[in-house]
Amino acid sequence: MDKQQEYVLRAIEERDVRFIRLWFTDVLGTLKSVAIAPAELEGAFAEGIGFDGSSIEGLSRVYESDMLAKPDPSTFQVLPWRGDENGVARMFCDVLTPTGEPARSDPRGVLKRAMNKAAEAGFTFYIHPEIEFYLFQNVTSPQDPLIPIDTGGYFDHVARGTAHDFRRDAITTLESMGISVEFSHHEAGPGQNEIDLRYADALSMADNIQTFRTVIKEVALRQDVLATFMPKPLVNAPGSGMHVHMSLFEGDHNAFHDPAGEFQLSATARSFIAGLLRHASEITAVCNQHVNSYKRLWGGDEAPAHVSWGHNNRSALVRVPMYKPEKGGSARVEYRALDSAANPYLAFAVLLNAGLKGVEEGYELPEGAAEDVAAMSQAERKALGIRSLPASLREAVEIMESSELVAETLGEDAFEFFLRNKRTEWQEYRNQVTPYELQRFIPAL
Ligand code: GLN
Ligand code: MG
Ligand code: MG
Ligand code: MG
Repeated sequence: MDKQQEYVLRAIEERDVRFIRLWFTDVLGTLKSVAIAPAELEGAFAEGIGFDGSSIEGLSRVYESDMLAKPDPSTFQVLPWRGDENGVARMFCDVLTPTGEPARSDPRGVLKRAMNKAAEAGFTFYIHPEIEFYLFQNVTSPQDPLIPIDTGGYFDHVARGTAHDFRRDAITTLESMGISVEFSHHEAGPGQNEIDLRYADALSMADNIQTFRTVIKEVALRQDVLATFMPKPLVNAPGSGMHVHMSLFEGDHNAFHDPAGEFQLSATARSFIAGLLRHASEITAVCNQHVNSYKRLWGGDEAPAHVSWGHNNRSALVRVPMYKPEKGGSARVEYRALDSAANPYLAFAVLLNAGLKGVEEGYELPEGAAEDVAAMSQAERKALGIRSLPASLREAVEIMESSELVAETLGEDAFEFFLRNKRTEWQEYRNQVTPYELQRFIPAL
């Protein structure tokens, strides 16, 4: 046993932990959990705990269904909402095949593979996410109307608002689990909130986001509200995005920073952005994986619909924030399409590989956009060479199907499963006859 594993065993004794939840993630980003007794832990560290992978979305084929979950001791945390007595702790796991090889379709493994490839080029990939979500009054059925818990707007201070208590409760819980929060505020929509996590390497951050989603749902239960990461729950209010600020470090040096570059960006940063732009449409299905995701990307409400970049331009897909080291800012690029319902492991892996491809091949960065890209006419955008992002899941899936970059990043199994699943999602969706259509067409036709 190594030092970290010994530390976990000691912590379990000292903190009276009776159940250890082993967490892993399916291809769609759903968190999975199996609880084991402390006595099982040594075996879990040595060999992993067996489970039937064929019952987990996309993890294995039926004929090779035995899988192992092997806990990563560096992710050990006690779950604060379970109390001090008979405590519950969790660790994220790597999923392995029965012979101990990394399972090809484990999203955590997909991201690890991408990070290892970046490491061979000398880079560590860092992420700072801004996570948006809505709070509604609790409902008893999905048919009930959604009533936001307040009517606040961007940065509003809502007097005696539930949102304050909610954010305070959520942030205290996150911090007690070692996840630092940088900012939090009311967002533009009624009942919409945003919490921004302090940057971390992409693997830790993907783990943190999975924890974050769980914490938000726990706090919502506690406060009797409904919290949702659905990308666009309301017709007339902005959707919930998950903007990610990204940078590559070489040791202690931010490889995106060059004091002599335009906006203090290095050549590496410029070709990373070029990679994001060139492959943006291919990675959209992964970054925006649901039929509902595309209702958010209509061009307004500060969500992107076109492939462009700009300095401090909030209509752009990639924004280069103002460089303000005196305020703790660093050279970084913000990708604004990603939504809060994506699988963070897969999304970070495709973003990293799209950017790295640009760096490896030395892609040229096209001209930036200084104006509101969404307000331009189609002809103006065409003249500037600004393409549209896929406008539906169907379009995104069609483009992903022929993407070598995404196929290589996800690996054959996850790639095929993801596409199959999304084709079905689209088919089910297009079979629907919606209340909108009935209202619009029954009296008229
Ligand atoms: N809610 C917007 C989106 O969907 C972002 C708004 C903002 O943070 N400026 O991306
Ligand atoms: Mg923000
Ligand atoms: Mg925001
Ligand atoms: Mg932002």
